[in-house]
Amino acid sequence: MDSHEPAIRTVSTTCPYCGVGCGMALRARGDRVIGVEPALGHPVSRGQLCAKGHSSAFAVDPRDRILTPLVRAAGGFEETSWDEAFTIIVEALRSARQQAGPDSVGVIACARATNEDNYAAQKFARAVLGTNNIDHCARICHSPSVAGLRQTLGSGAMTNSIDDIDEADLIVVFGCDPTENHSIIGGRIMRAKLAGAGLLVVDPRKTRLARMADLHLQLRLGSNIALINGLLHIIFDNGWEDAAFLEARVTDTDVVRRKVKEYPPDKVAELTGVSTADLVAAARMYTEAGSALLAYGMGVTQYACGTNNVIALSNLVLAAGHVGREGTGINPLRGQNNVQGACDMGALPNVYPGYQDVSDSDARAKFSRAWGAPLSDRPGLTSLGMMKGALAGGFRALILMGEDPVVTDPDQNHVAAALNAMDLLVVCELTMTETAKHADVVLPAASFAEKDGTFTNTERRVQRVRAAIPPPGRTRGDWQMLGELAERLGDYRGLRWPNSRAVFQEMTSLTPPYSAMSYERLKGPGGLQWPCAAERPEGTPVLHRDEFPLGKARMLPVRHAEPSEQPDDDYPLWLTTMRLGYHYGCGSMTRKSPLLERETPRGVLFINPSDAHSNGINEGGPVRVRSRRGCIETCAVVTDDLPEGTVSMPYHFKEAPSNQLTNTAEDPVTKMPELKACAVIVEPLAPGTQPRAVDELHAAGELYVGGQRAGTYEPQAVVAATTDDEPEDDAGS
Ligand code: SF4
Repeated sequence: MDSHEPAIRTVSTTCPYCGVGCGMALRARGDRVIGVEPALGHPVSRGQLCAKGHSSAFAVDPRDRILTPLVRAAGGFEETSWDEAFTIIVEALRSARQQAGPDSVGVIACARATNEDNYAAQKFARAVLGTNNIDHCARICHSPSVAGLRQTLGSGAMTNSIDDIDEADLIVVFGCDPTENHSIIGGRIMRAKLAGAGLLVVDPRKTRLARMADLHLQLRLGSNIALINGLLHIIFDNGWEDAAFLEARVTDTDVVRRKVKEYPPDKVAELTGVSTADLVAAARMYTEAGSALLAYGMGVTQYACGTNNVIALSNLVLAAGHVGREGTGINPLRGQNNVQGACDMGALPNVYPGYQDVSDSDARAKFSRAWGAPLSDRPGLTSLGMMKGALAGGFRALILMGEDPVVTDPDQNHVAAALNAMDLLVVCELTMTETAKHADVVLPAASFAEKDGTFTNTERRVQRVRAAIPPPGRTRGDWQMLGELAERLGDYRGLRWPNSRAVFQEMTSLTPPYSAMSYERLKGPGGLQWPCAAERPEGTPVLHRDEFPLGKARMLPVRHAEPSEQPDDDYPLWLTTMRLGYHYGCGSMTRKSPLLERETPRGVLFINPSDAHSNGINEGGPVRVRSRRGCIETCAVVTDDLPEGTVSMPYHFKEAPSNQLTNTAEDPVTKMPELKACAVIVEPLAPGTQPRAVDELHAAGELYVGGQRAGTYEPQAVVAATTDDEPEDDAGS
């Protein structure tokens, strides 16, 4: 080594990708991250990282980062100073608020950013802008988990810990593929199965885990509630429920018992495509297991009946008494590294940090006192509500921290039209994403490797994030830039903290589940799991041991509802969206890694051999996929992972974004769009044709939206799921 070269530093931190929260160390020399190491002895990852984690250094490489503020100019963007950028933003925000009131502006926070950044973002929206218009991408992943589990159990998070996989007699994987999306958890489930645990998989796709399961229920897309109610029918009919648990700890069992009488096995077999024998076998497996851990994902939540899907699963778990012990529970696998934390921090339109309701006058008075600002009692707009508001003209200005809704939200043309309709769009980002291309001002953000803070993983584990290198160029951390903006906009100094430790201290003083945490107490590997308060200073790996936050848990009746859009003669196939193990979210971080980029083509459509044959489609062949909302070109992978009649696409690729096609029909409780089911037609392109990226299709004028050329977009009516005797909305997040 050159004796003048700076020494290599090793800095312990947390993986910036998925909600597993693996421990890692960044190796840094000078101002560059030069490598990544897994953290030995970490309680979750146990010395392992997946391919994404190992590629983290590429995501923060300064060579294609945005390093200085940018403002829109003729033909693109031009560089500017922070001072000039802030002046433009302040003027536009003041003008929007004066003309249309505080609810004409809002903030979309970021599930990739730290708790400290998210705490600052929601405080900025509420105390400085004067609105509860604050949301983030949990809206389109697990908002139904938060709403559904709050209604039934009183807490919307994973009840158990990742370590409990090793304690379970039976693992139920429902509507998710952790081997792709949460690779370290997927690996631990595979090891537990090989060590003797039972495995039951419920999924329309033949996933890796489905192929090694004792039983795979390959249900029809969108038939979750019918299947779960059918299992409950069999359980109650045979007296397989845990009667003592229900008697002691659950209310309203009888109303569900009555409701599921409407779901006899033969009717459920017809609705779901699962045989009555398999339904009985699954009900028996689940109730006979001494301890059964149920994990679920977006195959449950991303429906217009997403909240009811979660409630149905909760009914099942309660009926079998599989909660409140090691190796059990109902466990939503949260997608992004800090999506649990962003929810905990109150980056939601209806709750302050710690899920304290904005409509509760005591909670409002507490935060108003602490922040020294009057606070609105009106629940704010969701992220999709802000888009609709922009198209309707009432919503004028948005600050968007590190999310890419143009790629990740449903009906991409709708999102792009909404962003273009705003008076001001500010995007804080690492790189020029598809959403940033629509901005008026782009602010250069610091990455996870350049800031201190905390992330909260899917099992409520709060862990330290540590700066390994200084922020490159003129980039800044989110809370630091919001602090200066607050001062310029409202002469408000409540976001001027000296360091991230002070942000965390202020947050814990107002957030009961985090109240016994401090940076000092989080310094060891693995941090602490909330609730972590005076009575439980060591944290809580298993929730609901003795009682639920509601006292007794509630069972609630829900009914089957078909997806809002059905295949027909014009659009004869179901499309369901999914994720790939090598990529993450909009791909803006993972696609910077040549190692990850090498592993998959730029967009892909998975199709069953029979559908491929009847449509004249060959393996690897170019195809056009159309829905009522858009059209993309990509290449086909022919696989029996998909059942006949259903095709599947990942949403990571801006060249072939499946969210051109998806449906904005939404869950009436949470406004979750129905990303998991829409109707499409797939047509082969001439052999040898290179699929065109969506930009090229736009340039060729070949895109249409709802029968119109793009650019004359008219928003479609939003179709909401119907309910009859289902529970009332009480959560809204
Ligand atoms: Fe990172 Fe998730 Fe992979 Fe762990 S499993 S290394 S947290 S992406």
